[in-house]
Amino acid sequence: MVIAPRTVTIFGATGSVGRSTLDLIGCDPDAYEVLALTACHDVDGLAAAAVAHRAQRAVIADESRYGALKQILAGTGVEAAAGALALTEAAEMGADWTMAAIVGNAGLAPTLAAVRRGRTVALANKEALVSAGGLMMAAVAESGATLLPVDSEHNAIFQCLASGSLDAVARITLTASGGPFRTFTREAMRSVTPAQALKHPNWSMGRKISIDSATMMNKGLELIEAWHLFPVGLERLAILVHPQSVVHSMVEFHDRSTIAQLGCPDMRVPIASTLAWPARMETPCRPLDLVAVGRLDFEAPDEQRFPVLRLARGALEAGGSAPAVLNAANEVAVMAFLDERIGFLDIGRIVEDVLARSNLAPAASIADIQAIDLSARRLAERLAAELIS
Ligand code: NAD
Ligand code: MG
Repeated sequence: MVIAPRTVTIFGATGSVGRSTLDLIGCDPDAYEVLALTACHDVDGLAAAAVAHRAQRAVIADESRYGALKQILAGTGVEAAAGALALTEAAEMGADWTMAAIVGNAGLAPTLAAVRRGRTVALANKEALVSAGGLMMAAVAESGATLLPVDSEHNAIFQCLASGSLDAVARITLTASGGPFRTFTREAMRSVTPAQALKHPNWSMGRKISIDSATMMNKGLELIEAWHLFPVGLERLAILVHPQSVVHSMVEFHDRSTIAQLGCPDMRVPIASTLAWPARMETPCRPLDLVAVGRLDFEAPDEQRFPVLRLARGALEAGGSAPAVLNAANEVAVMAFLDERIGFLDIGRIVEDVLARSNLAPAASIADIQAIDLSARRLAERLAAELIS
C-alpha cells in the first residue's frame, strides 16, 4: 500500500524547535511534503532549509529581506514570500500538520490561522496560548482542529492522559528543572549575566525560553498553558522542581495511580510524538539510561527566590487580560536583559509593575489582545528605560 505523504508547514523553521522538527522530517523525507517554512530575519537559514526539504514556499516575516530571499531562491523551485500577511497565507495553504514554533506573541496570528483550518496543529508557541488562550481554545472547538502540545511537560501530560479521563484527574504535576540558578540566592542572582542565564543545565533551546527558564517564568507560562489545555482547575495544577529533567510531567488520578512520562531531555522526543500521532515513529534520539542517570531528585518550587511563579499564578487568578499583560511585559523585559539594558532581577520587577498599572479587563477579540499586548509592551519599555536612567 502506498501512503500519500503528509503535508506539513513549520512556523519558526530556523529556530531550535523548528530545526528539531526538520531533523525528524529529514529522517523519513518521503513521508512528508513540506508546504511552507517560515522565519523572522534569517534568510540564509530559511532558504537552505527550504531547498533541502523541497518546500513549496519560504516566508520571511521581515519584509525588508524579501529581495534577498527571492535572489537566493531564484531557480530552486521554492517560492519566496514576505511579511505578516504572507505568514497567515502560509497557514491557509492548509497543511495536514502545522508546527507553531514562532517565539512570542508574534506567533499568535499565524498559529490562530492554522487552528482555523481545522487540521492538526503542534503547538510549541506557548506565548500565543498564554496571551489569547480563551480565544484560541474557542477557535480549536469551532474549527475541530487537533491541538497537540509540543512543550515537553504538556506533551507528557497529554500522553499520561491516554490512561484516564480528565474528570478522573486528582492532580497534574508540571516538572521544572529549576534552571541554571536553582540553588542561587536572590543576592547572587542580582549580578548574573545573560551568558550565565543562557546556559541551561539540561536543555538546548532558543534565547528567550532559556531566560524564561532561568527566572522560572517559563514554568509560570506553562502553568497558564496547562490551565487552558487541561481544564481541571488551577487547584489541581502543581509545579515540582526536578533538576534532572527526566520525568517530564505526571498525572495523578482519583484512585491515586500516578502516570508519568520519562525521556532524555531532547525536544525531538515530544515533537516526534506529535508528528506521528496517534502512531509512533522511530527517532534518532538516545534511549533513556536510568542507570547512567542514577538518581531522580524532587523539591518544592521556591516562590520567594523565583517570584515570577507567584505573578503567573496571580495572573491566572486575576483572569481577564492579565496573562496577556504578563506575557507582553515579560517578552520586553527578557529582551532588555539580553541586551544588557537591565539586570536579571529587574525582569520580575517590570512584569509586576506592568501588571499593577494595567487595565486587566477581558479581551473580546484578537484585535483587543493585540492592543493590550502593545500597551503592556510600551509600559514595560518605559519602565526598563527608567531603570537605566
Ligand atoms: P528560537 O528563538 O530558537 O526560534 C524562534 C523562531 O521564530 C525562529 O525561526 C524565528 O525566525 C521565528 N521568529 C522570531 N520572531 C518572529 C517574528 N516576530 N515573526 C515571525 N517569526 C519569528 O525559539 P525556540 O526555542 O525554537 O522556541 C519557539 C517556541 O517554542 C517558543 O514559544 C518556546 O517557548 C517554545 N518551546 C521551545 C522549546 C525549546 O526547546 N526550544 C521547548 C518548549 C517550548
Ligand atoms: Mg517546557
